[in-house]
Amino acid sequence: MSTVHCAAVDLGATSGRVIVGSWDGSRLELNEVHRFPNQFRSLAGHEYWDIPGLWTEVRAGLHKAKEVHPKLASVGVDAWAVDHVLADARGRPVYPVHAYRDLRTAALSRDLGRSGIEKVYRLTGVPNYPYNTSLQLQETIQSCPGIIGTAKRCLFIPDYFNFLLSGRMVNELSVASHSQLIDVNGTGWSGPALRFFGIPSGWFRPPARGPRRLGPVVGVPGLEGVTSVLVAGHDTASAFAAMPAAPEGTDLYLSSGTWSLLGIENDAPLLGPRALAERISNERMGDGRYRPLKSCLGLWLLERLLLDFASRPTTPAAWRQLIASAAGTAVPAVLLDLGDASLFNPASMRGAIDAQLRRRRAPIPRDLARYARLICASVAAGHASAAAALSGLSGKAFGRILMVGGGSQNRLLCQATADAASLPVKSYALEGAAVGNIAAQLVALGEVRDHASFRRKYSRQLEPAEYYPR
Ligand code: ADP
Repeated sequence: MSTVHCAAVDLGATSGRVIVGSWDGSRLELNEVHRFPNQFRSLAGHEYWDIPGLWTEVRAGLHKAKEVHPKLASVGVDAWAVDHVLADARGRPVYPVHAYRDLRTAALSRDLGRSGIEKVYRLTGVPNYPYNTSLQLQETIQSCPGIIGTAKRCLFIPDYFNFLLSGRMVNELSVASHSQLIDVNGTGWSGPALRFFGIPSGWFRPPARGPRRLGPVVGVPGLEGVTSVLVAGHDTASAFAAMPAAPEGTDLYLSSGTWSLLGIENDAPLLGPRALAERISNERMGDGRYRPLKSCLGLWLLERLLLDFASRPTTPAAWRQLIASAAGTAVPAVLLDLGDASLFNPASMRGAIDAQLRRRRAPIPRDLARYARLICASVAAGHASAAAALSGLSGKAFGRILMVGGGSQNRLLCQATADAASLPVKSYALEGAAVGNIAAQLVALGEVRDHASFRRKYSRQLEPAEYYPR
C-alpha cells in the first residue's frame, strides 16, 4: 500500500496549524508544516476574529503542505466552536465575526432566568453559557434587526473555511451541536429553541455528518486535485475521535488546552436537573453519537497570567523549567474558584486572581512559580469534579483518564489530575484534534474502514506518559 498524505487545518483560539498526516496503512506520521498565532482583537468595546488573516495563514500552510507532499490527497478543517460567520446567499460575510469572549451577551444570559435555562436545556441538552451561539445570534438580531433580511446563512468557523476551500456551504453536526440550537433527541435543528431565541431557521441547513468528501478544493490556486473532506468540525469532537480508547467505553477523555474539556462517549444524552446543575453539555461526535462533557476553565488562566509576567516560554525547555519551578512549591491550601466570572476575560489575570483570593482571605502567591502551581492544582481539581459528575450521572465506573492537548505536556497538571481524581492519567503528547481530523479524512478516502479500526492501529504506535494517583 502506498502512503497517503492528508492535511489537517486545526484552528485554535490561541494558535492555528496545518499538520500533514502520512498514513502507510498502519502508522501515522505527523508533520506540522505551518503554525501561526491567533487572537481576537478589540474594537470599540467588542471582540472580533481576524478571519481574512486566518485564511491567509491557512492558504500559506496548505501551499507548504503541497510543497512538502506533492501527492497531498485531501484537507479537512476543525476549529473552536460557537463562533460563526453570517453570510449572504453567495457566502459573503454580512456581519463582523465576534469572538466568544465578547461580553455582549452577558445581559441576555442573565435575563434567561431559571425557567428559560431549564427549558433550553430540555430542548438542546446544552447548558447556558454567555458565549453560546444561541445568545450571540439573539444579541446580533436585537442590536441589528436588519440582519434578518441581509443574512441568508449561518456558518460556524470550520463550516466557513470548508466553504472557502470547496465552495460548498454545509452545517456540520459536531460543531452545530455546541450551538444550543440542535434537538437533543434527534440530529436536526430544534425549532422550539430557534423560536425561543428568535433566530430564523432558514439560516441553517440540516446538519451533515462526516466523514465524507465535499469535493475538490477550488479556493486555493495550486491545490487542484486535493479533496476537501467534511470531518468533525468541532476540534473537541475531532480530539475525542483520536483518543486511543478501550472499546469497552471505560475511559474518560480530557482535552486540555485553552479550555479543559472532560467527557465520555455515550449512546444517550445525560439530562435532568443534576446534569444541568453540573453543566453537562451533550454535544455530538462527528457520527452523531453523544459526547457528554463538562468544560472548565483551563490553561487560558496560565496563558493570560504569563502576559502579566511578560515571560511566556517559547521553547519546550523553557516550559519544562517553568513547570519544574512550579512543582518545587507547596500546593496552596485554597484553590481558585473556576466558576468566578471575573476570570473569564480580565484585563489582567494576575489582578483577577489576586482579587478573588483577597475576597476569600487566602494568601496571594509570591511569584510566577507559585501562581503556576495554584493554577495547575485548581484546574486539576476541576478535572476531578467533572470526572465524578460524569461517573455519577452515567452510572459508569471509569478506569482511566486519557489526556491530549497542550496540557498533556504539563507534567504537574497531569500528576495533579491523577491525584485529585484518584484515577491513572495516560497523557498523549499528540495534537488530538489534528489526528482525529486526519483519521476522518482517511475514512472518507476509503484508506481506513472506520474510526474504531483507526484507533486500534494508531494506539499501537503511541507511547503515553502515565501518572498514577499518589
Ligand atoms: P488550544 O488548542 O486550546 O489553543 P492547546 O491544546 O494548543 O490549546 O494548548 C495550549 C496550552 O498548552 C498552553 O496554554 C500551555 O499552557 C500548554 N503547553 C503548550 N506547550 C507546552 C509544553 N511544552 N509544556 C507544558 N505546557 C505546554
